[in-house]
Amino acid sequence: MQTESIIIHDENEMLDAGQAFSFCLQAGDRVHLTGDLGAGKTSFVRGVIRGLGYPGEVLSPTFSLLETYEFDVFTVVHFDLYRLQDEQELELIGFRDYFTETNVIFIEWPDRAMEILSTPDYDIRIEQQGNDRKVLIDKINKNEST
Ligand code: ADP
Ligand code: MG
Repeated sequence: MQTESIIIHDENEMLDAGQAFSFCLQAGDRVHLTGDLGAGKTSFVRGVIRGLGYPGEVLSPTFSLLETYEFDVFTVVHFDLYRLQDEQELELIGFRDYFTETNVIFIEWPDRAMEILSTPDYDIRIEQQGNDRKVLIDKINKNEST
C-alpha cells in the first residue's frame, strides 16, 4: 500500500487536490472517502469532477444518494451514504449495477454499507485540524499478498 499525505489550508486547495487526483483515475476505479461532516469530502470530489472537465454545478448527493457525470473515457458515480437508513435502500436504487468496468465510483460514508462494499482502489481519509485538513490517500494494491 502506498500512502500520500497532504495538508490542505482552504476549500480552494481541496478543489485543487481533487483535480490533481482526477488525473490518475482509470475506468473501474473505486474510491472511498471518510471524514466527519464538513471535512471536505464533497469538495474533494467536486475538484475531481471539475478537473475532468465537467462544466456544470457539482451537487452534494446527500439527499439523492448519488449523482452521475458522463465523460468520454468513463462515467463518474458519486455516492453519499450518510442518510442511508438500511441497505435495502441500496437495492432499490440498483447500487450494485453501478459497479462496472467503465464507471469510476466515489463513496462518501462507505461505513454505512460496509457489508456490501469490498476493498476500494483508493481509501481517502480527511482529518480536520482547525481550519486545515490532513488528507491521507491510500492506494491499495489488490494483488499485494499480506
Ligand atoms: P463533507 O462532504 O466532508 O461533509 P464538504 O466538502 O461538503 O464536506 O464541506 C466542507 C466545508 O468546510 C466547506 O464549507 C468548506 O468551505 C469548509 N472548509 C474550511 N476549511 C477547509 C479546508 N481546509 N478544506 C476543505 N474545506 C474547508
Ligand atoms: Mg459530503
